[in-house]
Amino acid sequence: MRLSRYFMPTLREAPSDAQIVSHQLMLRAGMIRQEAAGIYAWLPLGLKVLKKVEQIVREEMNRAGAIEILMPTLQLADLWRESGRYDDYGEEMLRIKDRHERDLLYGPTAEEVVTEIFRAYVKSYKDLPKNLYNIQWKFRDERRPRFGVMRGREFLMKDAYSFDVDEAAARRSYNRMFLAYLNVYARLGLKAIPVRADTGPIGGDLSHEFIILAETGESEVFAHRDLVEMGAPGADIDWNGDLQPLVEQRTSLYAASDEMHNQARFEAEAPEDKRMNARGIEVGHIFYFGEKYSKPMKALVAGSDGVERPVHMGSYGVGVSRLLGGIIEASHDDAGIIWPDSVAPFGAAVVNLRPGEASIDAVAEQAYQALLGAGKDPVLDDRDDRPGAKFASLDLVGIPWQLIVGPKGVAEGVVEIKRRATGERQTLPLEAAIKAIC
Ligand code: ATP
Ligand code: MG
Ligand code: MG
Ligand code: MG
Repeated sequence: MRLSRYFMPTLREAPSDAQIVSHQLMLRAGMIRQEAAGIYAWLPLGLKVLKKVEQIVREEMNRAGAIEILMPTLQLADLWRESGRYDDYGEEMLRIKDRHERDLLYGPTAEEVVTEIFRAYVKSYKDLPKNLYNIQWKFRDERRPRFGVMRGREFLMKDAYSFDVDEAAARRSYNRMFLAYLNVYARLGLKAIPVRADTGPIGGDLSHEFIILAETGESEVFAHRDLVEMGAPGADIDWNGDLQPLVEQRTSLYAASDEMHNQARFEAEAPEDKRMNARGIEVGHIFYFGEKYSKPMKALVAGSDGVERPVHMGSYGVGVSRLLGGIIEASHDDAGIIWPDSVAPFGAAVVNLRPGEASIDAVAEQAYQALLGAGKDPVLDDRDDRPGAKFASLDLVGIPWQLIVGPKGVAEGVVEIKRRATGERQTLPLEAAIKAIC
């Protein structure tokens, strides 16, 4: 990609209604455009990052044994009448009528649809466990859409749904998602804390929210510091083995959201210097709810004894579009966004300081082709602009590496590279520079 032909409408200043830094930077970097309150168009740079985040979520879901499907955004109200949620859901649900006066809705979540799919095909315990997920737009008519993609009305969610023969099996499915989530956030460069969340009437301990720390977050978290510092389990887990010890290692340390917090327990379970109380952003939520939908919707499976019983379900959500805001809140400086390499819109920018000057163009082109060949997804900054303006916009949009080609270096047979995160610069021959970046 050549920046001279690209569409990257950066802004010098953020519109005054953007209150938090991630929202300001997403607007300034030309990633999103608000079309209505809480409804955004994704511009090229924003879309590239969104797709990369989505792909990481997808890879980790697949690794943990979940299977991707795609459910529609529009759902029949009748399904929600079956589960009993149509009237309960309230004003967050966007209700729509088609030309035949049938009630539809723009899905805020998909338990009903996935249960309908499941019950149509799966009848026996022999076909279990199953975990079906999709990455699809949701709509919730939030009372206060704000902070850009953090609380949108239309937003992208990964939602997975597990189906098991009983509660013990459901716990195994839950454990897989619990650990897969930690791996997702770690690959995004985030430290996410799994905190106990409300299980509602079902009770038990199988509901966790995943919170990343940020002062502007809308959630409050209380947690043992050792949990905050604990690393993700990593990819080489035996997903079919016993995951309970890995989960317990994390759930035995105190961590709760404000609704679930109990100060006396906190003080009993964590020594004073290990108690952390901070604000954060909910970037995921996993939840076992048993027969809540399968019973009223008659999603039954025959057990080994031949008796049909409602299947045990859980649901597992990741706020994919919200994560972009979360990553920026966690990783930026005065100059702009600092993308982790894993989701950066481009892996590196080749900055041509003298576009149109043949000897410089040739080296820039050579650098660009080498990075392209190495799979770095580079961009060539061949814009006819002041060097200062070019650097400022590349810093703003957060490209992790700059490879700078100018007349002085070319005369000496070297280029300069700059690491966005640290500002560290090195002057090297082209080949060594490419090697350092890749
Ligand atoms: P919140 O407490 O922020 O309103 P929620 O608890 O209502 O979120 P869930 O139903 O648990 O959300 O949905 C799963 C995930 O979807 C959340 O953890 C969050 O990351 C994301 N999400 C929920 N609502 C929004 C929204 N309005 N905009 C962007 N992402 C959202
Ligand atoms: Mg909500
Ligand atoms: Mg919540
Ligand atoms: Mg939630």
